[in-house]
Amino acid sequence: MTRIVCKFGGTSLADANQLRKVEAIVRGDARRRIVVPSAPGKRTKNEPKITDLLYLCHEMAEMQTDFSSPFSTIRERFLGIESELGLDVGMNDILDEFRAQLQQGVSRDFVASRGECFNGRIVAALLEAEFVDPAKCVVIRANGSVDPQTYQRLGEAMADESRTYVMPGFYGSDTHGNLKTFSRGGSDISGAIAARAAMADLYENWTDVSGMLMADPRIVPNPAPMIEVTYREIRELSYMGASVFHDEAILPVREVGIPICIKNTNDPAAPGTSIVTRLSPEVDKSTEIAGIAGKRGFSMVCLDKSLMNKEVGFAYRLLGIFERRGISVEHCPSSIDGINVIVDAAALGEQSDGVIDEINRVLQPDRVEIEEDLALIAIVGEGMARSVGIAAKVFAALRDARVNVRVINQGASELNIIVGVGPDDFERASRALYSAFISSGRVSEAPTA
Ligand code: ASP
Repeated sequence: MTRIVCKFGGTSLADANQLRKVEAIVRGDARRRIVVPSAPGKRTKNEPKITDLLYLCHEMAEMQTDFSSPFSTIRERFLGIESELGLDVGMNDILDEFRAQLQQGVSRDFVASRGECFNGRIVAALLEAEFVDPAKCVVIRANGSVDPQTYQRLGEAMADESRTYVMPGFYGSDTHGNLKTFSRGGSDISGAIAARAAMADLYENWTDVSGMLMADPRIVPNPAPMIEVTYREIRELSYMGASVFHDEAILPVREVGIPICIKNTNDPAAPGTSIVTRLSPEVDKSTEIAGIAGKRGFSMVCLDKSLMNKEVGFAYRLLGIFERRGISVEHCPSSIDGINVIVDAAALGEQSDGVIDEINRVLQPDRVEIEEDLALIAIVGEGMARSVGIAAKVFAALRDARVNVRVINQGASELNIIVGVGPDDFERASRALYSAFISSGRVSEAPTA
């Protein structure tokens, strides 16, 4: 039988009403056999997430201050969900025991993991499913990566294909058996691990948007979701700030070719976004780009030196200056007599004068200066290498929007074109690019505004 792993994010589990939607989704397809829940998230924009309240309780308990205010919010949320769903998982006793543990002193990771753990109990009762304890199956190494023994352990714990299993996300144990969490948003990783351990046919990641959006909704009003995106494109887009799916969650499923589908719990009929190794031929043929993502907060160190190209090792010595100072280099566009180094402005920080002095001393350039406040926008798409006219469309759109382009960089993989613009042009440029490409984008449904 084919099995689907469904991971539900915090907003999909924020209250009893959302949990009923989750139940309908899981029961609506007999292949949905493995469910990975997050902790309850926000019901409204300003409400704290349960995980944030748990971190707060831990911090207050450590400082020996009274944590009853955040604790009672946590209690109300869980008891409310339990009673509204008409379940009895013994949540009151579970919470009393947890309170005592907090008072005695427990690790930060243990405390943070309780949101997923308690929610897992509720979801398992709701679905009449077997609870799988990640602390016994998921082994997380010191650097946060998954220990390969996890797959066998978890595969055995979820071996019966006729049963439904619920495994809370976000945590496991370290190699010594102590409870350990992944980084924030890590339930996506747990879902990917479960999919791989079960060798599932599909990993569904249920959230509150109908897939990955073609642009940042904080900048472009109501951007359309993409129907398909490749793993490589996701890497480029998320590096430039696009979010929805945890970066590290891609690897476990990508290695064994399990596709991911991002779906909307509030609109399950919407097709969502499929993350695939290779685009389907129709999508590949009919679309130009996957999406647009951008970030502010870069600085550019610009230097000119006549005959720089004849000086063997010039770039090596230049980049060594950044390496020794622990500054990661993002991009490095060059010309015959000039080279620019684009870095994260925060990483350069107070070292900017030191960098300039060292460049002057080591490389004796004709000019060196730092342009601060650069925003980068990446236009990302697999088809770019083969299509004629994408660059023309990018620059025509920017010209029409009267955006001054300060840097142009096409990635070596021909998967992206990156443009650098001033901070005041960033939003206008992003919107202009989105409008230029929306009609040939990989959208699953027409944008509604
Ligand atoms: N609850 C955790 C967090 O807020 C993990 C997750 O939701 O994926 O980061």
